[in-house]
Amino acid sequence: APQSPVPQDPALPVTTPSSAGKKWKDDGTLRLKKNLRVWVLTSEFNWIAGTIVSAEDTEAMVRTADRQVIRVNATRLQPANPDILEGVYDLIKLSYLNEPSVLHNLDFRYAQDKIYTRAGPVLIAVNPFKKVPIYGPANVLAYQKRTPESSHPHVYMTADSAFKAMVRDGTNQSIIISGESGAGKTETAKIAMQYLAALGGGGGLEDEILQTNPILEAFGNAKTLRNDNSSRFGKLIDIHFDKVGKICGAKIQTYLLEKSRVVQQADGERSYHIFYQLCAGADPDFRERLHLKSAKEYRYLNQSNCLSIDNVDDAEEFKRLRTAMNVVQISKEDQELTFEMLSAVLWLGNITFSVVEHDNHAVVDENEAVKVAAALLHCDADDLVTALSTRRIRAGGDDIVQQLTLSQATDSRDALAKAIYANLFDWLVERINKSLEAGKKRTGRSISILDIYGFESFKKNSFEQLCINYANERLQQHFNRHLFKLEQEEYTSENIDWTRVDFEDNQECLDLIEKRPLGLISLLDEECMFPRSSDLSLANKLKEHLKGNDCFRGERDKAFRVCHYAGEVVYETNGFLEKNRDLLHADLLQLLASCDCTLPQLFAASIGEGAQKLLSPNRRANGTESQKQSVAAKFKGQLNKLMQRLEGTEPHFIRCIKPNTSQLPNIFEQELVLQQLRCCGVLEVVRISRSGYPTRHSHQEFGSRYGFLLPRNLSNQEDMLSVCVSVLHQFGISPDMYQVGITKLFFRAGQIGHLEDVRLRT
Ligand code: ATP
Ligand code: MG
Repeated sequence: APQSPVPQDPALPVTTPSSAGKKWKDDGTLRLKKNLRVWVLTSEFNWIAGTIVSAEDTEAMVRTADRQVIRVNATRLQPANPDILEGVYDLIKLSYLNEPSVLHNLDFRYAQDKIYTRAGPVLIAVNPFKKVPIYGPANVLAYQKRTPESSHPHVYMTADSAFKAMVRDGTNQSIIISGESGAGKTETAKIAMQYLAALGGGGGLEDEILQTNPILEAFGNAKTLRNDNSSRFGKLIDIHFDKVGKICGAKIQTYLLEKSRVVQQADGERSYHIFYQLCAGADPDFRERLHLKSAKEYRYLNQSNCLSIDNVDDAEEFKRLRTAMNVVQISKEDQELTFEMLSAVLWLGNITFSVVEHDNHAVVDENEAVKVAAALLHCDADDLVTALSTRRIRAGGDDIVQQLTLSQATDSRDALAKAIYANLFDWLVERINKSLEAGKKRTGRSISILDIYGFESFKKNSFEQLCINYANERLQQHFNRHLFKLEQEEYTSENIDWTRVDFEDNQECLDLIEKRPLGLISLLDEECMFPRSSDLSLANKLKEHLKGNDCFRGERDKAFRVCHYAGEVVYETNGFLEKNRDLLHADLLQLLASCDCTLPQLFAASIGEGAQKLLSPNRRANGTESQKQSVAAKFKGQLNKLMQRLEGTEPHFIRCIKPNTSQLPNIFEQELVLQQLRCCGVLEVVRISRSGYPTRHSHQEFGSRYGFLLPRNLSNQEDMLSVCVSVLHQFGISPDMYQVGITKLFFRAGQIGHLEDVRLRT
């Protein structure tokens, strides 16, 4: 019941007649008993440990850890696990998988710097926000050799399983990393890459692959309020291995770079690291040729009151970047072109406009900024001025020149800067890919690592959040389907009886977003085709056509609500159309085509044929380009490809968790962690397991742990399975609470707790 004071716990046991007779009553509340160890819910997200000192039907007196005795209603109590399960390395081993138990287990481990914990097949990584001495060559070796010290869950263990499975079975593998901003996805991906580089290294390519990280981080990461090094794009890297397991190539695919950041950042945030690095680190000769100034002199960098990051030396980072670019074999010319374009972007931002009073249009202030920007772009300064302040439109067969208003002119300047940066980024990724693939033979075996933005739900959510959350819906579907499949496969291979449990699918939400012709993306694309459409007309259209979908709700004004698997999100349609169209006006495209440098190529490569036609100087400008694919459609296509690729791999999931919002070590905020656990589906996995038989022990393990509890004649039986069966009978474990598999015993949740109690008392 959602109204119950205990937040709906997806991990509550399925009440079956026989379990109802024990810990739980029919209404799902705990059967209170003296000495029972419990979690007491004190406020919405806070539990404290306690022990029942006396119990009535629906209330109990509980002694809490701080020695107070309080009266608590049964609805606020959850059973706690026996001591022996304190801080287990795999949540699946917990007898009680309720939220406080899971949280406590992670917290307990985190306090000892055990940042990795398993949730069955999933690795949970809690960000330590400090150096933990569990990485480096010695640890790599331990995990590679699987020494006893390497028995703790670790990214290395996950990477090792992937590597060994690839070599053993010849199948492609993937490591899928998710979590919210600042949770540690990028660091985790790098740790996995380091491990694979160590195992598959030797040919030299591993250095190149590792050095792509500082390059992509310089150009695609920025300081945000959530993370000093936040990735503003999604990334998949496929690392290819030859027959003997040596790295023989790699390929990077990126997704949806946040380009608005180039021209604008929230207060306290920065633009992409590379700009500050370049301004701080370029040598004098370079500064002169590129007309570089310090970061504080550029509008695009100085408007958010944040120029530096604590403990980061941008000049030093620039050196590191140059080294990385050299290792990845980006030629001197290409490096210079890159920096020239970056400088051009910064100078574009310094171009200002004045408004001509009598007719309300903007003129470009003819100052240093225009001249330098034009010089860096290798175009004519007058052409730049014209392209920024006017627009040629076609009316009745004639071209007429329209003067832009101040806001139109500012928009066109910013659009140009964003387009140059985004295309430069894509071009750089292509450049890197060329180096990583050059002359390499493919064997078809690879490990792909996905580092992609997690589910987002802010106060205000826009088009970007819709795309990000759409990606997460697809990944969640992949996750669910895979884990269910695994679960069922294990039951089948152990030959135990079980009825298929259906899982909550998110197909309906995916249909809402991607179905044609009546899904969010199709409707958005359609609306983008109408010249007179507006954010309001879009909102109305969505409300009209999607109201029948259970995952959709119209909201006031221009907003709508989507029920995602991880929660409801209200989106505001403001700016949706423009962000989805993402057009550069033909005058600007023509200007770029006229640049006497490699810039036109850089654009041609990344915006496809439609644009190439436009770039041809012979073509007459007639408004905006129409063939270009919308951003949402392109993203959908990319996601389809991504999912196809992932479907062909054996997945390994890592869920990163951010323990606090201050980016500080040793602070574990329960509420924050719980929200993430609920969002990322870890508790779902646990729920899935719970509906089956979450606790598993091999016959051997179980027999040797509990066999001694039996009378001698029974504990001495030769065959371990007979010992196990005797234990089950002797202690009255009801037959529907367990299954005997070929090599393992399977238990429903909570069964082992009772045996442990007996064992401890003996
Ligand atoms: P975003 O979505 O914003 O890109 P993210 O999930 O990629 O976030 P990271 O950049 O990987 O987050 O991590 C944020 C910071 O947390 C890192 O800069 C680092 O300081 C710290 N961190 C993460 N993982 C570890 C780790 N295993 N050991 C030490 N520090 C870590
Ligand atoms: Mg990141």
